[in-house]
Amino acid sequence: MLTPERLSLNTATVREQWDLRQCVEGCLRHGFGGIAPWRDKIHEIGLDEAARIIRASGLGVSGLCRGGWYTAEGALTEAVIDDNRRAVDEAAAIGSKYLVMVVGGLPEGSRDIVGAREIVTEGLAKTLEYARSVGVHIAIEPLHPMYAADRACVNTLRQTLDICDVLGDGIGAAVDVYHVWWDPEILDQIKRAGKERLMAFHICDWLVPTRDMLTDRGMMGDGVIDIKGLREAVEAEGFSGLNEVEIFSALNWWKRDADEVMQVIIERGRTSC
Ligand code: ZN
Repeated sequence: MLTPERLSLNTATVREQWDLRQCVEGCLRHGFGGIAPWRDKIHEIGLDEAARIIRASGLGVSGLCRGGWYTAEGALTEAVIDDNRRAVDEAAAIGSKYLVMVVGGLPEGSRDIVGAREIVTEGLAKTLEYARSVGVHIAIEPLHPMYAADRACVNTLRQTLDICDVLGDGIGAAVDVYHVWWDPEILDQIKRAGKERLMAFHICDWLVPTRDMLTDRGMMGDGVIDIKGLREAVEAEGFSGLNEVEIFSALNWWKRDADEVMQVIIERGRTSC
């Protein structure tokens, strides 16, 4: 069971309804403990204003979504490195200890997933070096393998932790139940990660059937994920961060009144997490 102060609103959950200011006000109104903005919501109102609003709210910040996309230009370019440096600065500005990374998939026209993963590791190393200098941690989010081609070629927690082992301190994992629930190794890999590398915990549910690969995530309790089991597994390692609610739902939740969405999240936090 999760009470509202243990929840964080990932702004993607109400991205069609609310701007960043409305998200912050909504979190306060509904008693959420924190927020996790996407960069587009920050850019809409400008970084200075976003930082001011978030800091003044007193809300926790469970992460900034997102950096990464290292393979977007086919090789690691200055433009990609610069954008990730800006993302680190934005995380620091809004008081987020973590920058969440969606690392990028296969470069266009490529069949070289091994090479893509090399680009990603090299890019993460560069961003990590800068992030360490400003005190931001890098949280790699492994994505479900159905996104390996177009979003992220890091697809399991094991693979994430292997990269962390190579790169050292200041880098860890954002565990999103949507991406990892199916993985037979997940509990062992959560143990392997330990407190230091468990940097974020994202919740939603896996609907059966899933009608769209990207935008048909379910509200907690409407699908098949053992959310409570996974939450207890990360908490057993000492994770004490917020439970970040991240629901992409073009067919359902994005069409509803956002305050209603917040209320349902709170109910499901109590009954289904
Ligand atoms: Zn996530």
